[in-house]
Amino acid sequence: MTADVADALARDAADPLAAFADLFHQPFDSTGRRSIYLCGHSLGLQPKTAAQYVEQELKDWQRLGVLGHHTAQRPWINYHEQAAAPLAALVGAQPTEVVAMNSLTVNLHLMMVSFFRPSRERNRVLIEKSAFPSDRYAVASQLAFHGLNAAEHLIEIEPRPGERALRTGDVVRRIEQEGDKLGMVLLPGVQYLTGQALELEPLIAAARRAGAAVGVDLAHAIGNTLLNLHDWNVDFAVWCSYKYLNAGPGAVGGCFVHERHARSDLPRFAGWWGHDPETRFEMGPQFLPIVGAQGWQISNPPVLATAPLLASLEIFQRAGMQRIRKKSIALTGFLQQLIETRLGSLVDIITPSIAAERGCQLSLRIARPADAARHCHELLAAAGVVGDWREPDVLRLAPAPLYNSYSDVLAAVEALAHAVRR
Ligand SMILES: *Cc1c(COP(=O)(O)O)cnc(C)c1O
Repeated sequence: MTADVADALARDAADPLAAFADLFHQPFDSTGRRSIYLCGHSLGLQPKTAAQYVEQELKDWQRLGVLGHHTAQRPWINYHEQAAAPLAALVGAQPTEVVAMNSLTVNLHLMMVSFFRPSRERNRVLIEKSAFPSDRYAVASQLAFHGLNAAEHLIEIEPRPGERALRTGDVVRRIEQEGDKLGMVLLPGVQYLTGQALELEPLIAAARRAGAAVGVDLAHAIGNTLLNLHDWNVDFAVWCSYKYLNAGPGAVGGCFVHERHARSDLPRFAGWWGHDPETRFEMGPQFLPIVGAQGWQISNPPVLATAPLLASLEIFQRAGMQRIRKKSIALTGFLQQLIETRLGSLVDIITPSIAAERGCQLSLRIARPADAARHCHELLAAAGVVGDWREPDVLRLAPAPLYNSYSDVLAAVEALAHAVRR
């Protein structure tokens, strides 16, 4: 046994969350070998309890038909409300500030309808330059919807030349410069490509000082980093649940609206599920929104797409986000250390090297011509390591603390070393 193997095994033996890996289905490759799955940033693994949660709803529907709305084991009428407390714990909110609904980009649009209210002077939106395409499309289309255009009204900040990460001070200064021209600031919690975790608190504060609405996209942050949305005073946040939340492909997403907007009369796109449940079924013509984030719901919740989320959130509650993050820092630190010592000259880690400035993902550039680098990813996949490749040249590996072990990380680095040296 090499020293590294002994080290990984000792870390696994001392890991208080080690047993949680058994709560998830671990995928196998075509030869029947268990994969080393480091792709939770794209689609989290399936909790073993997810099937029971879904089957319960299928059974209740079989057995009860429409009566299941009130008499299912978990009544459908307020099914989504069971997600509120555990989601609130993950994002640092009160349960009334969060709602499980729709999917991420849809929620982003709904939030912008309410919070991006451009005036003649205050009509610019600040985002990051390499934003996830869907976010940029959403923002550009909202600008167009208001008769504005991205060329003039979209500000895209990027790292300094030669740097990969955004500096908090630079973003704050840009926000201050734009000042009262700024209608909205939209920031990622964790940048999807570089894996940088932004320092949200001072950025949100700067946007608010400038008088702009501020929202965060938590696609890569929820279930990954520690968040405190209520105290940070952000106006809104949106997320999907299929990445680190392990709720399955296309699972219902979520949304945070700060308590100070709970009774807001901001314009919103309304639907009956946002209406006060006390009077919803009086079927009156006048919309009376639920106080809090639930007031932004439009349709009745997709129960089958919410069931696996409940299964997963139950696991998060048991593990606790503090313990998850603690393991994550150690696990990703181990990945970093192994790459640096074994592959320092061949693999460049573009994710910030300080744990506080990243989540669990490391993004790698392989110091080879583009085709050879892509080929490394293919070799890695053939060796049973599931990461992903983002054009033009980034390999993303994310050890997820709920189901990955230190031995997984070591095995992945050994396969990477093999692939890179070929
Ligand atoms: C994954 C991801 C999305 C996906 O959007 P959907 O609406 O869930 O399809 C959007 N934005 C970011 C930043 C993401 O990482």
